Amino acid sequence: MTDPKSSRYAATLPELEAVVKQLGEPAFRAKQIHQGLWQQRKPLETLSTINVQLRDELAALLPLDLVEILERTTLGGMTAKWLWQVAGGDQVETVLMQSADRATVCVSSQAGCAMGCTFCATGQAGFERHLRASEIVEQVLRAQHTCQQRVSNVVFMGMGEPLANLDEVEPALTSLQDGLGISARKIVVSTVGVVPGMDRLRAFPLPVTLAVSLHAPDDALREQLVPLNRRYPIADILDAARGYVLAKGRRVTFEYACISGINDHVHLADALANKLLGFPGGAHVNLIPLNATTGFTGRPPSPERIATFAERLTDRGINATVRRNRGTDIDAACGQLRMRTSAPVEMRESKA
Ligand code: SAH
Ligand code: SF4
Repeated sequence: MTDPKSSRYAATLPELEAVVKQLGEPAFRAKQIHQGLWQQRKPLETLSTINVQLRDELAALLPLDLVEILERTTLGGMTAKWLWQVAGGDQVETVLMQSADRATVCVSSQAGCAMGCTFCATGQAGFERHLRASEIVEQVLRAQHTCQQRVSNVVFMGMGEPLANLDEVEPALTSLQDGLGISARKIVVSTVGVVPGMDRLRAFPLPVTLAVSLHAPDDALREQLVPLNRRYPIADILDAARGYVLAKGRRVTFEYACISGINDHVHLADALANKLLGFPGGAHVNLIPLNATTGFTGRPPSPERIATFAERLTDRGINATVRRNRGTDIDAACGQLRMRTSAPVEMRESKA
């Protein structure tokens, strides 16, 4: 018997068939609905293959997991951000970034995060709960429903540490590839360096792209930014990352949040280059200007200073790019929209 409390994107095809039968409809309807929701990525309300009554009954039996609290869009409309409420009352965020050649959704994998990185708004707020696979996948679909372009890329760079929630992240990855047809290569899982999780993801069959948040070339400095470094120091993280590259044949990206006067000195670029030279597949460093948060006194360096750091890496043979900070004007950085819901709103926004 079908669980009547199953949510829309948690229901498998056999479960959909059971629900449809329960409503007195032939089983083939379930296939049509499944195809509409997944391959065609349409909202249930717009499926033209079923009548309004069936749609309403299905909507009641298979509710959505995410309740929209807030949607913000940049003035050009190319970046959008949502704050959702999930069961239990916690809030999570999703960002959609569009460009001419791709549409990327940045998903949260947990409500909050237990890792406590000092510069991160999510880390400052602490852990609430793991998200379920259907709650992760629904973020992608709800963003898709607002956008003409087909979502081509998914990055696990919203709230939470995905490798601390692999029991749900792995089935979400499978659904993204099998259900939505998003190739694993176009999915990036970003980790703060949970070594056992990196090893587990290496054994997972899909070749998703791994990004490792490094932020510092030495353990003493990294420990100040990333408390988890005491448990998994840089050498262990780099070993696990090497293992991932060798198993999957996918290049690993290293993220580096640049903080003025803390980790942006040229000698640290040299130290980082020394650590990463000869990394299998060639290491790629993605420099992210810090998004200032209320719980951390650090500030982003000037663009010139970040450019100098990037050049130094490149001169030393390490591929480096600077991430353009899209959507900071709508608090699109990790955990920041939630922190602001009690503060005055400055941007154009719409409520569901
Ligand atoms: N927990 C994972 C994924 C989510 S965070 C991880 O830490 O990798 C995604 C990225 O945003 C990470 O590289 C993280 O270091 C970065 N980030 C978090 N807070 C930030 C801030 N205030 N400014 C710039 N980057 C930040
Ligand atoms: Fe968690 Fe990532 Fe934020 Fe660290 S940077 S607290 S791991 S979400």
